[in-house]
Amino acid sequence: MTGDESKTLALIAHDGKKADMIAFALAYKPVLERYEMVATNTTGKLLRDKANLNIQLMLSGPKGGDAQISAMVAEGRIEAVFFFVDPLEKQPHDPDIQGLLRICNVYDVPLATNAATASYIISEKKL
Ligand code: PGA
Repeated sequence: MTGDESKTLALIAHDGKKADMIAFALAYKPVLERYEMVATNTTGKLLRDKANLNIQLMLSGPKGGDAQISAMVAEGRIEAVFFFVDPLEKQPHDPDIQGLLRICNVYDVPLATNAATASYIISEKKL
């Protein structure tokens, strides 16, 4: 990533993808630590505990955390969103999830919805 490090990274993982998020955070911890970070509540607590990262906690996704992060994207405060979605589980807050995906596209903010894409974004790998 060559972006503006005064901005913040957003990290979110559905329950079925939280292990992937922790592995990603541990693998790229030195890069992540250069940024401010926000996360939905459960994801953020896990990242604090398992990867020892300093992360601002928002509400849990189903309680409005995705919507809070959408607002931050719209305000131009987010450099990139790492949102590991679980395509095999129905999510009660799907409208908020779709809203976050949409708002990233409205504002052309980098959005990784799986670990492979996240690795490309953060390591600047080229195809
Ligand atoms: P959580 O929310 O980190 O609080 O589990 C993530 C989500 O389901 O969007």
